[in-house]
Parts: sequence; C-alpha cells; structure tokens
Amino acid sequence: MKRKLFLGQSSLATLGVLVAPSILKAKKIVKPLNTNNIHISYAISTWNVPQATKIAGEALDNGANALDAAVKGVAFEESNILNTTVGRGGTPDRDGSVTLDACVMNHKGDCGSVLAVEDITHVASLAKEVMEKTPHVILAGEGARTFAISQGYLPENLLSDEGKKAWRKWLENGNYRPEINIENHDTIGMLCCDQEGLLSGVCTTSGLAYKMKGRVGDSPIIGSGLFIDNNIGGAVATGLGEEVIKTVGSFLIVELMRQGRTPQEACEEAVGRIVEKQNGKPDFQVAYLATNKKGDIGAFSIHKGFSFTKYKNKTNHNITSKAMF
Ligand code: ASP
Repeated sequence: MKRKLFLGQSSLATLGVLVAPSILKAKKIVKPLNTNNIHISYAISTWNVPQATKIAGEALDNGANALDAAVKGVAFEESNILNTTVGRGGTPDRDGSVTLDACVMNHKGDCGSVLAVEDITHVASLAKEVMEKTPHVILAGEGARTFAISQGYLPENLLSDEGKKAWRKWLENGNYRPEINIENHDTIGMLCCDQEGLLSGVCTTSGLAYKMKGRVGDSPIIGSGLFIDNNIGGAVATGLGEEVIKTVGSFLIVELMRQGRTPQEACEEAVGRIVEKQNGKPDFQVAYLATNKKGDIGAFSIHKGFSFTKYKNKTNHNITSKAMF
C-alpha cells in the first residue's frame, strides 16, 4: 500500500506545476484505509484450558499485548487449586513441597524465568518481572521467592489437602520414584499473537509429580519449554522435560519453521528426534504446540491424549492433537 502511494505521488510530481493542489487533495481522500497493520489476534495453549485461553483471547481482543495476555490467561490455571500440575494445588516433589517453574518470552526475544519456586502462585508473572526488573534472565529457588516477596507477591501454601493426601498415599507404596506416566503431564504452554501481529509465550508448571527436590524440567528453560522468534513463530512443550531438554525441543521447532517446515511438520520432526533415541515405543509422553507468523498451528505428541485449546475470533475450541502412537 505504501509503495502504491509512493508511486502515485511520484508520477503526479513529474507533472509538476500542471497538477492542481485540489487534485492531490482528492487523491488523498479516495485513498483506501490501510488495514494491513491490523492482525487477528489469537491465543493457543497446551491442554484443555478454555478459561485460560478465553481470558487471554479477550485481553487480546481488547488490545492487550501478547505477553500481558498470556500471563493473564495462565494466571487463571495457576490459581486453580483443582489443576494439580500448575500453580497452587500443584503436585509436590517427593519431600512434599510444591515447587513451581515458569518462563516468558516476548517478540523482541527478551525472556525471564524462575525455577523451583516455593510459596508463590503466579510464577509466570514473576518470570515476567525477572525479565523486566532485573539484569538477569533466570532466578532460582530462594532467590526467586525473595524477589517475588520484594515485588509484593504474598507467600501462600501451595500444597492442597488433596495434594497432601495423594502424596502420603504415594509415599506409602514405597515406590520412591517420580511419576513419569503418560497422564500426569499438564504443563501450560501458551502462545499469543496480538493485534499488532507480535508473538509472545509463557510456560508454567509444577513439574513432574514426586520429582526429586530441586529437579527442574524443560518448562522454565528458554529454548526447551518455550521459544519465540517473532520473525518465524513460537513453540511450547509439555511432557517429560528431561527428553525435551536433550533435544532443545521448542528452539528446534522454530528453527525447522525457519527452514520452511510448517508448524505441524516441525512438531512432528521434534517428536521424532526424541522417539528415534528410544528402543521402540517410549513409556513417556512429550507433546509440542507451535504457530508461525501466518497463524498456522501445529501440534503433535508421542502418545494419543494430547489436546490444545485455541481462542480466535471470539470462539474457543479444544482440538485433539495427532500423535505418533
Ligand atoms: N514438562 C514438565 C516438566 O518436565 C512436566 C509436564 O509437562 O507435565 O517439568
């Protein structure tokens, strides 16, 4: 549109004084509105989280930037005590402490991350504060908790009564291993595109159920649980973090999209890289969700059972992902 206007003006200019100012004025009036810069915003998230995507999607509809919308969306699930894999109510580590991980990344490539944080519910928001208010990218453990309190976050007990009961039961069976089955992965990775067409993402989790104290998975690791390149697209991961870290899954997906793969092809290749290192069918789950700058979406998991939620044009859908097995 800009080029057209420029060409129009320069050819008129060659007519010099022969062109009456009124013609130039008329030309200006008939110029169609430039709607090129208005994008249809959308929010996508791992798993079936319609409230979270609705909150993010409506914030985007109201003009919020992609990162603020994503942080707002996931905050709903972080507060939801019934969600046992994110925020308050998250499943504890094997010593009975709920420790949370989260990260954020915006369209400029700025990022923030918090690892193994206790007593703070809204760790995605905290990761954003690390990005915005500290000279660092990552704060871990007690340092992250202290920083949160200095920013006005109130310490809360994150272990629910139900969570405590389930943990005690788990202790009783004497199986002192983290649970890495297929069902208990529900990390929320959310990608948002705002009305300016800018991408940001967030990843938030309580990590593996009954993990060793201090264990950190892929979710707060930039490039593993989340990666954004605003020129290309973004990706998020859920599932067994150790395997995602080994293949730097989200970064890999964005790089594959840079090389021309669709989000779907890139997610399938990233899952394939994990599976090819196993002897046959893995007994763990990993799933990816990705989008590119055109707004195409891809999702793929090792095992059936992964779904994602998409809010666009004021409608919210839960969509079942394709799977390798
Ligand atoms: N990716 C998370 C982690 O490894 C777990 C999950 O998605 O449930 O900590």
